[in-house]
Amino acid sequence: MAVSAFLPAQKKKYAVHRMRLAIVAVMAIFVTLYWASVLHEIGKNEDEALANAEKAATFSAKAAAEAVSATIDWLDTCLRMAASAVLQGGNALEFYGSVINSGLPDELVYQLFYIDKDGFLAYSSLGPSPRNYLGDRQYFMDLAADNALTLVVNPPVLGRLTNKWSIQVARAVRDKGEFKGVVSIAVSPEVWREKLTQFAVGAHDVVSLFSPDGTYLLRSQDSAEHYGQHVPADRPFLSSPSTTSGTYFRPGPRDGIHRIYAWTRLPSGQVVTSGVAIDDALAQTRDLNRLIIRQNLVATFALLLATLLIDRYLRKSEVEALLTSEREYRQRVILSAMAEGVAIVSPAGEVIFHNEGFERNLPLPHEKICRSGDNQDWNLIDIGGNPLSIDDYPSVVTARTGQGFDNITLGIQEAEGEICWLNVNTRPLYGSDGALYAAVLTLSDISAQREAERALRESEERYRTVVASLAEGIVLQDAFGAVIACNAAAERILGMTQAEMMARYPADPGWFTIFADGTKVKTEEHPAMVTLRTGQRQDGVLLGVYKPDCSLSWIEINTAPLWEGGAERPVAVVSSFLDVTGRKKFEDELNRSNAELEQFAYAVSHDLRQPLRMVSSYMQLVERHLGPKLDDDLRDFIGFAKNGAKRMDQMLIALLEYSRVGRIGQPMAWIESRQALDEALRFLAPSLEESGANVSVSGEWPRIFASADEVERLFQNLVGNAVKYRRPGEETKIRIWTERDGGQWKFAIEDNGIGIASNQMGRLFKVFQRLHANDQYEGSGVGLALCRKIVERHGGRIWVESEGEGSGSRFIFTLPANVEGDKRAMAA
Ligand code: ADP
Repeated sequence: MAVSAFLPAQKKKYAVHRMRLAIVAVMAIFVTLYWASVLHEIGKNEDEALANAEKAATFSAKAAAEAVSATIDWLDTCLRMAASAVLQGGNALEFYGSVINSGLPDELVYQLFYIDKDGFLAYSSLGPSPRNYLGDRQYFMDLAADNALTLVVNPPVLGRLTNKWSIQVARAVRDKGEFKGVVSIAVSPEVWREKLTQFAVGAHDVVSLFSPDGTYLLRSQDSAEHYGQHVPADRPFLSSPSTTSGTYFRPGPRDGIHRIYAWTRLPSGQVVTSGVAIDDALAQTRDLNRLIIRQNLVATFALLLATLLIDRYLRKSEVEALLTSEREYRQRVILSAMAEGVAIVSPAGEVIFHNEGFERNLPLPHEKICRSGDNQDWNLIDIGGNPLSIDDYPSVVTARTGQGFDNITLGIQEAEGEICWLNVNTRPLYGSDGALYAAVLTLSDISAQREAERALRESEERYRTVVASLAEGIVLQDAFGAVIACNAAAERILGMTQAEMMARYPADPGWFTIFADGTKVKTEEHPAMVTLRTGQRQDGVLLGVYKPDCSLSWIEINTAPLWEGGAERPVAVVSSFLDVTGRKKFEDELNRSNAELEQFAYAVSHDLRQPLRMVSSYMQLVERHLGPKLDDDLRDFIGFAKNGAKRMDQMLIALLEYSRVGRIGQPMAWIESRQALDEALRFLAPSLEESGANVSVSGEWPRIFASADEVERLFQNLVGNAVKYRRPGEETKIRIWTERDGGQWKFAIEDNGIGIASNQMGRLFKVFQRLHANDQYEGSGVGLALCRKIVERHGGRIWVESEGEGSGSRFIFTLPANVEGDKRAMAA
């Protein structure tokens, strides 16, 4: 039942795609076949039209041939009669001529005339005429030359007397085979043409009459222009004289119009052709074909449109099918990838669908997960450990009533006795008809979370116990400084309960605080507020707190910020503090007694110098008074006494100087440490020069909060010693450097001098402690003690490092880095 198989989206897509291709292919074949039949029909129509045109041409040619033949026969009959009239002699010819002249039905015949055997015009039906010679006429010459030739139809010629075009239909007059001349009828080609024209049906049809050799006799169109011309030689009736009829397609030799020609050969040898213009003959058919094409185009277009619409519809359904299946697929993948268990539960409690996460979250075997048949009870317990009947399972209640549940915690007892805790949510599931038919159940295993919460609670509990039992006061304040919590020690030290402290701000006058120097602490100066504002810890700040009973307690407070996520400012601050009232009292007492001691030392050293000066003055007087009387021993004794006094005076001066530290020097201020060093080096310049010492200074030189002349004296003593305790015969190298070391600065003066044995280092910084006799190295033994006093007064530490005698020494002292709290502490 878990998500495992699904129909790939592509499969559906290809099915629809294949259907689309099939439809397009079928349509293409159908359209091709359809158009093949349409074109066939069109061709057939044209063929039929052509066949009809051919029939019409044949019929027309035959009919025209009949008519021409009848005319020639009639003319020949007339000529025969005229010939016999010639042979009769006398007036027979005139008589016959007049008959012809008067009885002619139309204007076809111009005249009947007779040319005697010598070639001279002997008679004309038009009346007397000059004796013209016509023996050079072609028809005369042909008939005179050929005995077998009886009738000639001559192509139109221009009459010499009449100046009119005429066709001569001529017959030889023979008497018992002897040539007696020629009778001829001059026929009007125009009138004859008119007769022919009636056989031409269409406007571009043409009917023509040719002599056997292809010379135009008549043409229904543009006749005059063809007189005497020949038809092109490719005409079939010219090449096969034995054939009597036929058809052919040619463009008209005169007008270039394509026609279908039918021809008929007359018994007298002339040929009649009838040409039907193909364009005219096909005009109707072509109109019809065009109509057919247009109709079929419309039909095809409609078909293609329909195909296109079907294709679009299919494409859409293809895309939809793809999207639907992809959506379905995506949903299934999401469901299967979800860490949370999702299931659909029927009102009977049966799990009808579930994802993979469902099995992962439940500590149950697969067959039990589905809860079908008798296997339905999961033995669930509620958060209080009470067993739940299946009718009370949230999913079953939801599937039955439609009521959804959020964040229900339920447990399943596992085989090992442990409980798997689940977070359960349910929602009703309605069918498309709106009827409730199941519930959607989502669940996740929260055992680990509950375990972690329990562990956290325990650890918090432990932490609280630790905090509560601390001797150190702990106060937690929110981002605005309001007290959120505190421990019992804090209540005790500050003299108020947690309830009193809650919601109390540092600025509250009831919680009046002062710095060590007695100045009031402003709200923004309170270390907790400084930490909230800057995010930096504040360490060891000494504050005086006036308790509600107006007594003053001194506390040394440390603060640390609490951060949350990526917040720019701390969300809270923890302050821890110790009650140092006792220590403060002791320190104050110590300071006071130290001050008294210093005063005493000052007074002693100052006042002792007076009697000492007297001792040394009187020793000088004694020496001067006795003068030469002094023996060597006495002189030595006096010398010792004077030296002793001098040395004692030096010691008193040194002691005096020592006692002055912190009392007489410049007040504390922000000074440049490098400037103090440079002053010291300037002061020592003569001895540095004399010793030829090589001094190098390096490192970052910070601003320090100090008394300027005391720091100068500090550098003077240390650099002075480095010069003084140099190794004879070797170049003196002095390296002075600084280094940041956490919350303090380190200053070091390093030399390559005589060095210090390790067992001697402890005493160096005490007053009058020297490692060398005065005659070896002059000195009072107070310099390093003075250095120590100065350094410690500035909140630092001083010590010496050496590899041993002859290996040089390194004197290092520290001073607090630039921190507000230190400034306060030092100022105190
Ligand atoms: P003084 O130099 O007047 O004797 P100090 O207090 O300055 O007194 O020095 C104490 C002793 O420490 C000196 O007598 C000397 O033996 C030793 N000392 C001080 N500085 C050095 C140094 N740079 N190298 C070796 N020994 C030193």
